[in-house]
Parts: sequence; C-alpha cells; structure tokens
Amino acid sequence: MTSKEKIEIALPFIDSLFPDAKCELFYSKDYELAIAVMLSAQTTDKAVNKATEKLFKDFPTLESFASGDIKKIENDIQFLGLFKNKAKNIKDLANILLTEFNGKLPSDKNELQKLPGIGNKSAGVIRCEVFKIPDLPVDTHIIRISNRLGLANSKDEPIDIERKLKKIIPEDRWIKTHHQLIHFGRYFCTAKNPKCESCQLRNICKY
Ligand code: SF4
Repeated sequence: MTSKEKIEIALPFIDSLFPDAKCELFYSKDYELAIAVMLSAQTTDKAVNKATEKLFKDFPTLESFASGDIKKIENDIQFLGLFKNKAKNIKDLANILLTEFNGKLPSDKNELQKLPGIGNKSAGVIRCEVFKIPDLPVDTHIIRISNRLGLANSKDEPIDIERKLKKIIPEDRWIKTHHQLIHFGRYFCTAKNPKCESCQLRNICKY
C-alpha cells in the first residue's frame, strides 16, 4: 500500500476522533504565540500555559519584555526546562521584533527563523496559527505516528517527514492535519500505551 493510500485511510479516522483539533497554547497577542512556541521546546503545552499565565501578566507588552529584568522572566518560567536560555531568548526576541520588525511578527519563514529559539518547526506553527499560511510543521507526535504508520522511516529528520507528508496531503488540509495529528499523538496514539485495541488503523500500522 502506498503512503498516499495509507493517509487516505488514516485521515478520516483521525478526523472523526478530533474534528475540532486546535492549537492548545494560550496567547492573546501574536508575539505571545511566538514566545509560547519557543518555550514549548522539550516541554508540554500544559506546562507552558502554566508559565505564561503569570509571565504574560507580569510582562504585558513587547517593550516590557525588552526592558524587563531577566531574573524576573527566569523566575516566571523556572519550572520549564532550559529556562535560563529561554528567558534570554524572550528578551532577545522582543528586542529584535521592536528594532527590526516594527514590533510585528514577520510572516516570512526565513525572517521568523531569525528570531531566537525559532526554527523551521516553530516558524511553521506561527505561520499556520497567526497568518493561516498552509504549513505542516512536524513535532515529536507527528514523527512517532508517521513512523508507526510507515509514512516515514526512523532515519528521517523532521524536515524529511514534513516534505513526505506535504506530498501526500492536499495543501488545504495541512493546517488542520497538523493539529489533528498532534491531538492523535497526544491523546490516542500515545508514546506509551497507545489505544490500539480501539484503533481503526491497526491494518495499516507497523507498531
Ligand atoms: S494501531 Fe496503535 S500504534 Fe498504530 S496508529 Fe493505532 S493507536 Fe497508534
């Protein structure tokens, strides 16, 4: 069976499980999403939301981040991994947005990747969420699912998986599929104890 045939079986099932899957990071301003996405490296969205609830109250503007006390930023995010590095990235990100981008997030993928802590995946998430530009960023859940369903192999880098998925999924479904695959990985096809007994993809799954 080809990857395209597999995805045509998988997507309707995942769609039926998570029809309204959305980004689970909390934010009210565009740049806050960029900060939340950067903070989410090597931690969960739940932990990030717990940290940003206080962080975004203590620092309500980009200017307040740029001129803010880094120790206070560190204090607000201290239970996240790599918090010292992330606190520095927040300050640098705020300064770069203010000095180079008039305080606005750029929509260009290369320009987004000039921001500290923002790589290809994070830039894709920001483009999907803020600008509604079709993209299919690949996170740890999407890597796992792609391997289990035989849509990728264990040697593939995330960018390889992104390219493979983009070839077999129509562009107007990329954003939706990105969110749905993450939900599928977070709540159903979990790393440990996936719900295989009630999964309709057993026939096409290698796990
Ligand atoms: S059969 Fe199990 S491992 Fe395979 S896709 Fe379904 S839940 Fe995931």
